[in-house]
Amino acid sequence: MPIKVVIAGFKGRMGRAAYHMVLEDPELELVGLIDPHASENELTGVPVFHDKEGVLMLEADVWIDFTIPKVAYEHTRFALEHGLAPVVGTTGFTTEEITDLIDLSREKNIGGLIAPNFAIGAVLLMQFATQAAKYFPNVEIIELHHDKKKDAPSGTAMKTAELISQVRQPQEQGAPDEEESLPGARGANYQGMHIHSVRLPGLVAHQEVIFGSKGEGLTLRHDSYDRVSFMTGVNLGVKEVVKRHELVYGLEHLL
Ligand code: NAP
Repeated sequence: MPIKVVIAGFKGRMGRAAYHMVLEDPELELVGLIDPHASENELTGVPVFHDKEGVLMLEADVWIDFTIPKVAYEHTRFALEHGLAPVVGTTGFTTEEITDLIDLSREKNIGGLIAPNFAIGAVLLMQFATQAAKYFPNVEIIELHHDKKKDAPSGTAMKTAELISQVRQPQEQGAPDEEESLPGARGANYQGMHIHSVRLPGLVAHQEVIFGSKGEGLTLRHDSYDRVSFMTGVNLGVKEVVKRHELVYGLEHLL
């Protein structure tokens, strides 16, 4: 039996890539699409809804979400409450929201995944960065994305900083008496780690983690040149969440 999938945000850049990925995989069946501005006639054969309630009339197993930070929490809750396993790529969740959704998934006994980055290379970058931070506690993160991205810093940068902070004591970096002559020059500050967000047309999703120590430096970099880079991870997520009984945060938990 194929896994029945709905996609929220199917007209967006990521949602479109997910739409093609689902259609191309015979183990998956696309049963519904959600977008507030879609026209019913846009795609033949698959019901299109303007809001989340529409999918209640369907039989579906998995909810893929590539929408906007403002609605993603509500969507993920809704999916869990109605027996659909969420696979969420939308970024911008707070730590409290993620904890809350994990608790709800346990209560409902439903699997799920929130992944700030579905690219395998980006997951490896985070793991390598966590390893390196044990030896190089002085670290800054530069994330670079296309200029339509709504949230900053990126979910990947936040997740990288959170993982690094598990092996690095909070510490301020730079000169103790440094001053910003232009506010924001040193970027955002997460436990003393500075995060810089670059937004430019032409970019997709890129990240550098730069470590510095006495007389040496180490730079880790990952580039997603095309949104297809995320789809192996989304596909894996869809196939794994239906076998599980709680939501996890980060693709690495399913690899
Ligand atoms: P996008 O092109 O702006 O697409 C977002 C789509 O969501 C739009 O089509 C928008 O529709 C739709 N939308 C808004 N409200 C909705 C609602 N209530 N229900 C259903 N659809 C709704 O953005 P994107 O580049 O695809 O990125 C989407 C999200 O994925 C962002 O949070 C981004 O950071 C994240 N992302 C994650 C990964 C990852 O690997 N996890 C990778 C890249 C991006 P309208 O435009 O018609 O309002």
